[in-house]
Amino acid sequence: MVLALMRLNTKSAAFFLMKNKMNVAVQALGKTTFYECLDCGEPIQNLLCPNCIAKHFEIWVQEFPRLKKEILPRVKKYLKAHKDYNDYAVCASCGQPTCYTCPYCFTEYLLDLLKESQTDKEILKSFFEFFNYDFGHRGYSQDIDKLGMY
Ligand SMILES: [Zn+2]
Ligand SMILES: [Zn+2]
Repeated sequence: MVLALMRLNTKSAAFFLMKNKMNVAVQALGKTTFYECLDCGEPIQNLLCPNCIAKHFEIWVQEFPRLKKEILPRVKKYLKAHKDYNDYAVCASCGQPTCYTCPYCFTEYLLDLLKESQTDKEILKSFFEFFNYDFGHRGYSQDIDKLGMY
């Protein structure tokens, strides 16, 4: 139990540093299972891990060389920093226990990177065609609405 807690502490601390969000570490510490998203703290409904989403993202971003150059190294760095996060919910796509964040949070992270890189509207629309996981309509759906996609 103590060991498990220590391990959780270490992971939470690493995640905290990585994401620089105050609430992440606090949320993760109070949990007894690993099936909640470390970022938003909600149960992960759609079991698709960051590695799998990143693979799709890597394919998608090939079309946009500038973004690929600016963003892909950052995504790879993120995944590398989380490579030991392997005792979470099992991913329905790759079968690895690597669902440490929900698809919403991970795609929101990708969206943030795109915004930081001044990605133009048409490209954001294309991104949302492939990576819209805001099924609850509570987050970046508002961005989608503003882009006038649907
Ligand atoms: Zn989440
Ligand atoms: Zn996966």
